[in-house]
Parts: sequence; C-alpha cells; structure tokens
Amino acid sequence: MAVNRRFLGRRGQSVAAKEAVARRQREDDAPRLKDVAGHVTSLKFAIEETQDGIELAEVKHTRRIVLDHASARFEFACTEAKCEGGGHDITRDVLDGLEARKAEFGGKHACTGATEHAPCTRVLIFEAEAEYGD
Ligand SMILES: [Zn+2]
Repeated sequence: MAVNRRFLGRRGQSVAAKEAVARRQREDDAPRLKDVAGHVTSLKFAIEETQDGIELAEVKHTRRIVLDHASARFEFACTEAKCEGGGHDITRDVLDGLEARKAEFGGKHACTGATEHAPCTRVLIFEAEAEYGD
C-alpha cells in the first residue's frame, strides 16, 4: 500500500512524522485563536534557528497564520534531524504579546529534546508581527 511506504524510511523520518502527528493533535485540542484573541486581525511569524549559537540560514522562514481556523497553540518543530522529543512551544509568549496588543514582539526558545547522546542545542528565535481590530 502506498500509504504505508512513507513509514519505511529512516528511523529519524518516522520519529519526525510521529511528532508531527502529535503536534497537530495538540493544536487541534487547543482552543481556537479567534476565541481567545478575537481582536487579532493579522499575525505572522519570522522564524530562525541557531545551533550552538550559529545561525542556520536554511531554516529561516516566515509563516502567516490563517486566523479563521488557527489554533491558539503555537508550536514549531525542531529541524535537527537527530532530535527526538524536541520542539518549540512558544504559545505563552505569543498569547501574552497578543493580549498586550503589541505590533511586534519576539523571543527565543531552547529545544527541549535530545539527540543521540546529548541535549539538543537548537534555539528558535521568533519575531511576530500582529494587527488588531476593536
Ligand atoms: Zn531539537
């Protein structure tokens, strides 16, 4: 079955796939953003990661949040291929910023996962831009 073939890859891919499913589940279980921060009319993130303090150009990206169905949970995957159990949950920082109606805010989050023999050293740096209605 073509569907199963995806899970036959390297172990790391399978772990990443499982973590992506779990992350999506946590996002689905969380309240909707429009219910907890209905005054937000636009939200986007600029994301960077560093490893051992060195900026990783290849993981830089921006993400615009589609507000209609957005989860009020903001969690980004760790992009270190060997990392297990990692990720960046910046929900509290984001909700605090939106609550305070900040047009721009940001922060850092150290990965909570581990690679084979050591804690993961990835750090996520985010900048958020938001707009608000009444
Ligand atoms: Zn990690």
